[in-house]
Amino acid sequence: MSDSTHLGSSTLFEELDPEPRLLMGPGPVDVYPRVLQAMSRAMLGQFDPQFTTYMNQVMALYRRVFRTENQWTLLVNGTARSGIEACLTSLISPGDKVLVPIFGRFGHLLTEIARRAGGDLVNIETEWGTVFDPEQVTDAIRAHQPKLVAMVHGDTSTTMLQPLGDVGRFCREAGILVYADTTATLGGSPVETDAWCLDAVSSGLQKCMSGPPGTSPVTLSEHAVDRINARKHVEAGIRGAESVDAEGAIIQSNYLDLAMLMDYWSPLRLNHHTESTSMLYAARECARVVLGEGLEAGFERHRLTSQALRAGLVAMGLELFGDAEHRMANVTGVYIPESIENGDTARAALLDDFGIEIGTSFGPLHGKIWRIGTMGYGCRKTNVLRCLSALETVLRRNGYVATPGAAVDAAYEVYSGV
Ligand SMILES: *Cc1c(COP(=O)(O)O)cnc(C)c1O
Repeated sequence: MSDSTHLGSSTLFEELDPEPRLLMGPGPVDVYPRVLQAMSRAMLGQFDPQFTTYMNQVMALYRRVFRTENQWTLLVNGTARSGIEACLTSLISPGDKVLVPIFGRFGHLLTEIARRAGGDLVNIETEWGTVFDPEQVTDAIRAHQPKLVAMVHGDTSTTMLQPLGDVGRFCREAGILVYADTTATLGGSPVETDAWCLDAVSSGLQKCMSGPPGTSPVTLSEHAVDRINARKHVEAGIRGAESVDAEGAIIQSNYLDLAMLMDYWSPLRLNHHTESTSMLYAARECARVVLGEGLEAGFERHRLTSQALRAGLVAMGLELFGDAEHRMANVTGVYIPESIENGDTARAALLDDFGIEIGTSFGPLHGKIWRIGTMGYGCRKTNVLRCLSALETVLRRNGYVATPGAAVDAAYEVYSGV
């Protein structure tokens, strides 16, 4: 079915009723039913005490999720990229030197956003499928003396997890700020904001938090807050008589101005945008589900489920992608076997015939690997077994024959601890 099939007038007014899918790509993923339910709750005014109480609860819940004491833990309205852009645009003044180590697509994205914010960029790069030794990063910091280091934690484009603690602690000592993009890891593997000395961390809901895309949890250390407030210019029309512009360069984006967003999330409740009500309900419920299970229990579930999936793929004779020591716990890269002529045809069969979505890949990996996500609500034994069994069939019908049943048996063995 092409995506324009439903533009005809006979179907234009049909009820919205998509066929259910099992989302096992790199995100978005299946949403917790409790989150969908929360999103259908009644609208509230943004200054209704009920709603501002929910805002404060969201701050408290995400402090736990991010493992931080940071007062400024709030939501930026927009997908994960809006949180990245809010942090980088608010932290980088024109001309500031910024170091971005690139190990996949999202390092390029941080670079691009930091450059638009006026940063003077320095990059180091490592091959896709590997991560940096922390010393490579600290050497580059010593050599270039940036004002900000911006790093991706888990890069879904390569399925690799970059350790951040050593870099964070080194930068804290040196008075350099560190930003981390944890969109793909939050809720699925440890994100230790305070222990790793991270100054600004942003995320999204549509990966391991298992919510819809559309709002971005962000947390800021005191050091980050000081740097941002040194650039604070409150817009005319809402500013009080006592409001004085800070000396630093004005933050170029109004919507993503974290200085003004902090005022909105503070007891001042200084009006900015209208907080996205239903997305705030979603974010609140995602955190409640994740914390209700327990962060550590959730990390263990992600680890075990990936292990089972990987055992199954290997038993099918497939080769896993990337440095085995630094794989993320929630997305697996697997080489498309050579006997499969077109990886996209096989992927489409998985979607059309089995209702299972897995991911393609970008850049240097395009056409070479598939990416299979096991995140949040979707990160379960039943889904791993369904995916392996369907993939085995689809591969066979497309010219790659694995030992029948071997994949599912190997996954079962992981679960039974054999
Ligand atoms: C998925 C992902 C994003 C996604 O950003 P959106 O704006 O929500 O599409 C950003 N960063 C990383 C590391 C990701 O894995």
